[in-house]
Amino acid sequence: MASQYRGVTALETHAAILDLIRSSGVVSRTELVDRSGLTGATITRIIRQLMQDGLVVETGQAESTGGKPRTLIQLNAAARAAVGISVEDLGITYVVVDLNGKVIERRTTKGSGGRRPITVTQQMAEETRLLLSGAGIDSGDLLGVGVAVKGRQDSPYRKLRADPDAAQWEQFDLEHTLGSALATSVIVDNDSICAAVGEFWIGRRPPTDNVATVYMTDGFGLGLMIRGDVYRGASGNAGQISHVLVDPDGPQCECGRHGCLNAMAGAVRIVELARGDTDLRASLRLGRTGATVRRDHEKVAAAAAREHPAARRLIDASAQHLASVLVSLTNLMDLHSIVLAGPGFAGVGEIYVDTAAEQLRRFSYVGLVHATEVTLSETGPDSAALGAASLVLRSRLGPSRS
Ligand SMILES: [Zn+2]
Repeated sequence: MASQYRGVTALETHAAILDLIRSSGVVSRTELVDRSGLTGATITRIIRQLMQDGLVVETGQAESTGGKPRTLIQLNAAARAAVGISVEDLGITYVVVDLNGKVIERRTTKGSGGRRPITVTQQMAEETRLLLSGAGIDSGDLLGVGVAVKGRQDSPYRKLRADPDAAQWEQFDLEHTLGSALATSVIVDNDSICAAVGEFWIGRRPPTDNVATVYMTDGFGLGLMIRGDVYRGASGNAGQISHVLVDPDGPQCECGRHGCLNAMAGAVRIVELARGDTDLRASLRLGRTGATVRRDHEKVAAAAAREHPAARRLIDASAQHLASVLVSLTNLMDLHSIVLAGPGFAGVGEIYVDTAAEQLRRFSYVGLVHATEVTLSETGPDSAALGAASLVLRSRLGPSRS
């Protein structure tokens, strides 16, 4: 078989083989030869180098099927670490992960809401230092820090606008400021893209997969991984699923138009409708002093999970709207799978998964050729922070640098 790696540099070939080992979990040299199309001698040489670098280890032998026993290889998970930080108004989540994306240390602190970017960044640097010393990570083993924030990318500079609503963040160079404070490399990216990379890395997706990750907080975001690369579009802003038109006669969206997915089905809309329902408002104690959209949405979701009829109707309606957009997305992108991630799906993820799977079964055009799997992320509410750490692992060790 002709190798897909012919013509690429040695560094890229090493990264591609390391990525095959990551996605395989445990794998033999023979299987790597089959999957890469490279020769046995080349695979042996690359594995020797990766072992010298401490990135992979041998891990026993596969059951012999008559021939010579095959030695198995896997990532040396403890060899390096990465930090992931998810910045939200209500809380900042920090994780330290190993090479497999397994959490070694975690903490959450006060959110960024209403505070100056430099103050928040100083806090992030301090918390990261504490986290690393708590985890016993030497600076030499740290690959870097990834930060997940909401917002748009500025073209052509790829500088992330941390929050379109907060003018002071727009001009703030978070990447450079935090990088200088910690003396390490920092990557800042959109929270949905981070979640998508996390699904890819931690979920051990094969490098050839096309996966869409829907990330739900108060609204929806989307990260597209196309054959292992983040699809960013012309200005880094691909994946604005929240502003896909669902109903031109629907309620007004924050973008000024009417009937966008967010305006029809986001947590803000669910909470607005729930607070407008006198019985639901009273029985779930919604809209009390100090209530947030996040907190009230959690209450509605919990009630829907208990089969409270009115709450369940609101979540069902939201799930139907998202599902119809996912059918279009699947037909446009011909996806292998869709992952639902983020705190917005907590407690009600199965409702969204089942609704999307049902609509895809009925209406996906590419479904005539192959099924598109819909699953709930296993990374839980920390998917953005885990994804930010995965972004570092992938950018430092993976074959692509997008
Ligand atoms: Zn909109």
